[in-house]
Amino acid sequence: MTPATSRTRSTEWFARATEVMPGGVNSPVRAFGAVGGSPPFVESARGAHLHTVDGDEYIDFVASWGALILGHAHPLVVAALEEVIAAGTSFGLPTVAEVELAELVCSLVPSVEVVRMVNSGTEATASVLRIARAATGRSKVVKFEGCYHGHSDSFLVKAGSGLATFGEPSSPGVPPATASDTRVARYNDLDSVADCLADREVAAVVVEPVAGNMGCVPPDPDFLPGLRRLCDEHGTLLVFDEVMTGFRVALGGAQARYGVVPDLTALGKVVAGGAPGAAYGGRADLMRQVAPDGPVYQAGTLAGNPLVTAAGLATLRYLADHPDLYDRFDVAGGRVADHLGAVLSRIGRPGVVTHVGGMFGIFLGVEDVRSWDDVSAVDREWFGRFFRAALERGVLLPPSAFEAWFLMEAHLDGTLDRALDVLEEALEVSAR
Ligand SMILES: *Cc1c(COP(=O)(O)O)cnc(C)c1O
Repeated sequence: MTPATSRTRSTEWFARATEVMPGGVNSPVRAFGAVGGSPPFVESARGAHLHTVDGDEYIDFVASWGALILGHAHPLVVAALEEVIAAGTSFGLPTVAEVELAELVCSLVPSVEVVRMVNSGTEATASVLRIARAATGRSKVVKFEGCYHGHSDSFLVKAGSGLATFGEPSSPGVPPATASDTRVARYNDLDSVADCLADREVAAVVVEPVAGNMGCVPPDPDFLPGLRRLCDEHGTLLVFDEVMTGFRVALGGAQARYGVVPDLTALGKVVAGGAPGAAYGGRADLMRQVAPDGPVYQAGTLAGNPLVTAAGLATLRYLADHPDLYDRFDVAGGRVADHLGAVLSRIGRPGVVTHVGGMFGIFLGVEDVRSWDDVSAVDREWFGRFFRAALERGVLLPPSAFEAWFLMEAHLDGTLDRALDVLEEALEVSAR
């Protein structure tokens, strides 16, 4: 492992990037604003390792924000892409691979009987919300503080001043009228959900079944079953946003892991194997409302294109053929969480390391994390020092205290042990 030394070329490219791109990036967190410094520019990646234009190498736990589960440039995915690419990258007409991927997704994800491909998780959740509104004839939606469902207007909403009532825009440009249709509840707090549902105006409760966009916050044992029950009692649809957890925390996603079946599911990230694709699906009677079977409109020029289906199929077929991988993630994830938890105890500073399978959160400076109220109290300065100490030693974590980080199969060959040594040292030096 080569420790990061001089990031001259990345620094120069970042300066050029900021001239022509907002923040120099195509997605905000990449700008490293939360941890300071400037981002390394990637030249290539293989397995668990990233190589930068500066000649540095990092063990990567960003894993394309969870889109990669096998490793970078996995030979099977590369071969699948090479095979299709010369035959044309987009037709806007049906292909066999779309059917094969749809069949595989339906066979693997418990709630999904019918599925539609889209280009991003943002589209998947926005589309699912439209179906829920059409099917129920209601316009309100419930989301949870600290969960992320992409950047469509209805979900860029934070809690207003009232208790679990009307949301307020969390970004300029979101119309207050749109935000007021979104109600914001507290994660792992069923009473806050019951309050939101009481007037029976809510079309759907949308939840990350394992919260992954405020670090990794697992659901309490009664939370997901409780949501199912409350939704059934109030004529509200239950939507799992499994864009991050799908094919990640179990082959069938969080719904398989926890045995709670939602009405509709949003998928993304792993489903497209590192190519730009996503999907949504669910109960056949609901999905049959989507055009052209039904009146709910949703379309996509590049949806289900050959690159996405090739990368997605290669990845999901591999996962389906190696279901033991999820046991290995559980074991390795437990080892990482226990090890880092023990380091924190030894240092004598509060901190929590959570994991569900190979999905992690590290919350420095707090004792317990069950909702955004707890998570928002983390010591961001300490996280910044920890992040930079790990980076200097060759380990890349997501550059924010509020992002989950991920195992890939490629970590499980001894790379993880080397990374654990680095993370231990980074915790020790950053705690001081
Ligand atoms: C990443 C993510 C999204 C958004 O997906 P994009 O492809 O970035 O639009 C939505 N929901 C969850 C839970 C996510 O993790």
